[in-house]
Parts: sequence; C-alpha cells; structure tokens
Amino acid sequence: MSIGVALTLFPNLRDTLYALPAARASCKTQPMQPIAMLTRAQARRVRYILMDIDDTLTREGKLLSTSYEALWKLKEAGLVVIPVTGRPAGWCDLIAREWPVDGVIGENGALAFWEEPVGNSLPVLKQAFHPAAIRNDHPALGRVRERAFAEVPGLRVAKDQFSRMFDLALDFAEEEPILPLSEASRVKAIAEEEGAIAKVSSIHVNVWMGKYDKLSMAELFLSDRFGWDAVTELDQVVFVGDSPNDEPMFARFPLACAVANIRRYEGLVKSLPAFVAEAECGEGFAEITGELLTKRS
Ligand SMILES: [Mg+2]
Repeated sequence: MSIGVALTLFPNLRDTLYALPAARASCKTQPMQPIAMLTRAQARRVRYILMDIDDTLTREGKLLSTSYEALWKLKEAGLVVIPVTGRPAGWCDLIAREWPVDGVIGENGALAFWEEPVGNSLPVLKQAFHPAAIRNDHPALGRVRERAFAEVPGLRVAKDQFSRMFDLALDFAEEEPILPLSEASRVKAIAEEEGAIAKVSSIHVNVWMGKYDKLSMAELFLSDRFGWDAVTELDQVVFVGDSPNDEPMFARFPLACAVANIRRYEGLVKSLPAFVAEAECGEGFAEITGELLTKRS
C-alpha cells in the first residue's frame, strides 16, 4: 500500500513522525512492581488501554473468557481499547469488526484497522498503513527464509502467512516441534544479517523490511485518530504485553504492564515494564484490568 494512502488517512502523520525520536529519548529501564502498587491517581489518568494478544489475552492459543470479558468491561468503562499484535492483516479485519475494540494494530505495527460510525448506517472499516511498511514480496525476505530453513532444522512458515501483507512469520512454537528460544534468536540474527528487522514473539519470529514497530504505529494511531499528545499524555496509556516484541512499548509507556509469563524472557528483554501481574496470560490481563477499573471507581 502506498505512502499516499497512509498520509490520507493520517493527515498529521509527517508532524508526528518527526516528533517521535526526541520524545522517545525519555525511555528508562525500571524494575517491575506488582500491579497492586498502581495508585488511584495513576488509574484515574488512564484513557487508553493497549494490549498484545498472544499469551497476553490467550493461553495455549485460545482466547480466554476472562480476558474477553475484561475487554468488554474496559470498553463499557469508556476507555479506548486497542490490541497491538504481530498477527496478520486478515485477523485484524476480524478483530476490528467483531471485538469490543476501538481499532487494532497488526503485523507488529505495519497497519491499523478500525471502524468509523456513519450516521445511522453500519460502520465503515478504515485501514491505514505505516509509511515505512514494505510488502512482503521483498527479495530479502526470501533470502531470510532460505537461510533460516537451512540453518534451523524444524523451523517452518507460520500457517497464518497467507493473510499477511508486510511480514514473514516463522513459526518456532505455535505448533510442534517447539524449538528453544535460542533457535528463535538464531533466526532473528539471520534476518538482521540479511538487512531485515526481526522480532521474537512467544510463538513466531516476525521478519520485515522497513523501519517501524508496534510502538511507532501505536503512537501514530493514538495521535492521529484520538488526538493523543505524545509529550504530555504518556501516562494516559496502559499497555499490557508478555514477550520481547513488546519491548518498545514497555520502554515507552510509564504505566506499561506485563502478565507473569514475561519472566520466561527476562534475559531477552532489557526494558521491563513498570508493573507485572501475579497470574499468567489472560488471567494476568484480567488481574491488571481489574486493578485499573477498581482504582478508577
Ligand atoms: Mg505475546
């Protein structure tokens, strides 16, 4: 998709992009506190809740009733709800249309889909693409796939690849055989040697060309769609995640949280979030949102 489309849908995109590097310089590494330490004053400032999907809302691949109910409660409380995922464009179409959300960011920041109301008619699905996103027929991704298959036995293309627009998803843990994280790190290194960007999630290594990530698209979407101010309103955003591909979000937002399974990746994540749940996966997400909503009431 062309830059023109992205600029049409995000009219303030250029200004926002130029503002980001300076704003990001404020990132700090910090130890994780129990989510129970979130204060009432912090909770009352929050307007936006963003969350990863795999192993943050799900457990062993299934969306838990506890986490889906938590999304509805957040929406009913008037918060802006936005999943931010490595999952493909095809899934994001469904999520934007069917889930209780205000939009979804997919393919690790390549795209954002959301519904817009039109008077008394059915809402219209809107799509925007990061201006740096490059379609996944780029020859470098072919080279990464070839080398990764040769050097990492057991690796395979993720079965959701057919519905992806911008990245190559290599499965190391969604299906058997489950490969160790060291093998995922090897795939990431191969991708980087070939000039691509790679992030390790709890199930895939996602590989793409173009300088964007979950954070850069989240900031564009928040500012252009909702008028969020990247300098003065950082503390209005809660992000919940679980794995290394969430690290840019952990580093940026002072109220970032993780579900307890983040501890599996502590050696791989340099910037841990401010808060952590006691429970893992979707139960941990419900624990975090329960604290947030209770302390706002
Ligand atoms: Mg995840």
